[in-house]
Amino acid sequence: MRIGFHVSISGGFSLAVQRAFELGCSTMQIFSRNPRGWTVKPIDPDDVAEFRKLREQYDIGPVFVHTNYLINLASPKPDLYQRSIEQFVIDLERTEHLGAEYLVTHLGSASGQEPEWMIDRVADALNMAMKLHKPQATILLENTAGEKGDVGYTFEQVSEVISRLRNKDKIGICYDTCHGFAAGYDVRTKRGVDTVAKKIEETVGLEKLKGMHLNDCLREFDSRVDRHWHIGDGKIGEAGFKALLNHAAFKDVPKIMETPKETEEDDPRNMKKVRSLVK
Ligand SMILES: [Zn+2]
Ligand SMILES: [Zn+2]
Repeated sequence: MRIGFHVSISGGFSLAVQRAFELGCSTMQIFSRNPRGWTVKPIDPDDVAEFRKLREQYDIGPVFVHTNYLINLASPKPDLYQRSIEQFVIDLERTEHLGAEYLVTHLGSASGQEPEWMIDRVADALNMAMKLHKPQATILLENTAGEKGDVGYTFEQVSEVISRLRNKDKIGICYDTCHGFAAGYDVRTKRGVDTVAKKIEETVGLEKLKGMHLNDCLREFDSRVDRHWHIGDGKIGEAGFKALLNHAAFKDVPKIMETPKETEEDDPRNMKKVRSLVK
């Protein structure tokens, strides 16, 4: 089973692989640049070469890149919408430059708009981005927690977006367990996990499920609040993760933890916990 963390790229991409390796990761996720700014520094060719060499050597893969946080592919504001598409393309190009397999993106938000409007808006943005740059890496749409204005908090909505895309070959999904739980997908029991697996199968299809964000949830079930928490210590709990990790639909899907890193011990503890729950 491929398990890893979202790791920092501070100091360069090669250092990020080193961090992942030291944490015992067999897969990893990174940002391609500062996630909270629009400015982009060119990628240092030596750093990329080292990044590619090390991930090969350590057998870390697939590599997931997460898009910049400022990107909003559902924005009702024309300027931000246009900029988001351009910036999404930059993230996609950087993902490919690094030789990473996947680019994970949230669908976006537009307060006051109906989901139908947002679904069209996101699909148009993705179609435009893929026209500007034909993807080599696979774009993964991540389910959201359903916070105010969010779209993509049901698998039906995610599936609706995919159905509107002209090219679906390079499209998949990333299932975030915390977001799902906050949005009403109960995975506290084996039965609940079964139901979610069936839901994914009937909507987007399990073959599109290329990655998972393995996060416990600090807030209550169906709270619509996105607060990631340590594996087994949140409202999903150990039994839920045991069921998720060992379910036939999810077993072979690479899993990335985006759990809090308040102390040095947090990541090693979460990794140990996950490994202990895998049968
Ligand atoms: Zn996530
Ligand atoms: Zn989240």
